[in-house]
Amino acid sequence: MSDRVIAIDGPAGSGKSSVARAVARDLGWSFLDTGAMYRAVTLEAVARGIDINDADAVAAIAESARLTTLPRVTVNGRDVEDEIRSDEINVAVSVVAANPRVRAAMVSRQRDLAAAQPLGTVVEGRDITTVVFPDASVKIFLTASLEERARRRGEEGEDSVARRDEADSTRAASPLRQADDAIVLDTTGRDVEDVAQEIVQWLKNNVSN
Ligand code: C5P
Repeated sequence: MSDRVIAIDGPAGSGKSSVARAVARDLGWSFLDTGAMYRAVTLEAVARGIDINDADAVAAIAESARLTTLPRVTVNGRDVEDEIRSDEINVAVSVVAANPRVRAAMVSRQRDLAAAQPLGTVVEGRDITTVVFPDASVKIFLTASLEERARRRGEEGEDSVARRDEADSTRAASPLRQADDAIVLDTTGRDVEDVAQEIVQWLKNNVSN
């Protein structure tokens, strides 16, 4: 199954979602935004008044919630596409994503979702190249300067982006890190379509179908 996966990791604002969407569109493949899944679980916990530091209660939500990411992000049938990008969720999501039971539930869903796609899936997140699909056909690590990443994230601001990167890179459970065999692309000053084309071309040159 991993031969039909393009795995993309990188810090906040490195261009993962835009690039992954463009690659998926060009190949006619599906696209999976795994950050949206962690955000939706976080939102559901907050909406139910659960303390996000209560690891068991948050894990129970992750294990039982009905989640979709396409065509819209929903949790238990509620459209949360816009709400998951709020300041409150930007702050809380790294705590929820550090919970090992939450991660186990998300990883299992991500593998099932990719396995169900008829063609292939472009999956983006923080642990996709290292934990979820370590045998993906193509493994990409996107980077960009903090200044540019903060600019792309708009209202979130440089401090919040830097704090989230620090939390995601230093947690015990599946921290964000560059896989040894990942192709590293610095997207600073680069157009989304240009980066997407480089990835599609790499796939065509290196992976036989
Ligand atoms: O990609 P996005 O910024 O929406 O991700 C939100 C948060 O979800 C990240 O800061 C990280 O804490 C968590 N995440 C993760 N593993 C993934 C994707 C996202 O821990 N595969």
